[in-house]
Amino acid sequence: MMQGRNTTSKAAVLKLLRSADCALSHEMIEGELTEPVNRSTIYRILNRFEAEGLIHRIVAEDGRQYFASCAHCDAQGHDDNHPHFHCTACQRLECLPQPLDISLPQGYRPVSLNATISGYCAECRPDVKAD
Ligand SMILES: [Zn+2]
Ligand SMILES: [Zn+2]
Ligand SMILES: [Zn+2]
Repeated sequence: MMQGRNTTSKAAVLKLLRSADCALSHEMIEGELTEPVNRSTIYRILNRFEAEGLIHRIVAEDGRQYFASCAHCDAQGHDDNHPHFHCTACQRLECLPQPLDISLPQGYRPVSLNATISGYCAECRPDVKAD
């Protein structure tokens, strides 16, 4: 029974991350799950998915962690060289599709990139508000 419930929780968390159009924090995942799953189980599931290349972790500038589904990663490693955008008004954090092309000194080999741009998304920009 324990095994079955754990498998269901894993499937629910993965489905949530895959259907979301932005990255989700641990609290958001916990709040969205229809069946309550305890906090440490969610942490364990997220760590496992990250190791399997199913999701990637984003650390926002405020230190809060978010998780988003991966497109082309596997257990061999991650290839998420895209930047992220964090709206400080609505707190939405999303993956930006364009890869970031940073030139490194000769001989350097990049393994991961952690770039989060913070600001206002199109919905929240104060200078375009009609009123
Ligand atoms: Zn990845
Ligand atoms: Zn926003
Ligand atoms: Zn991303």
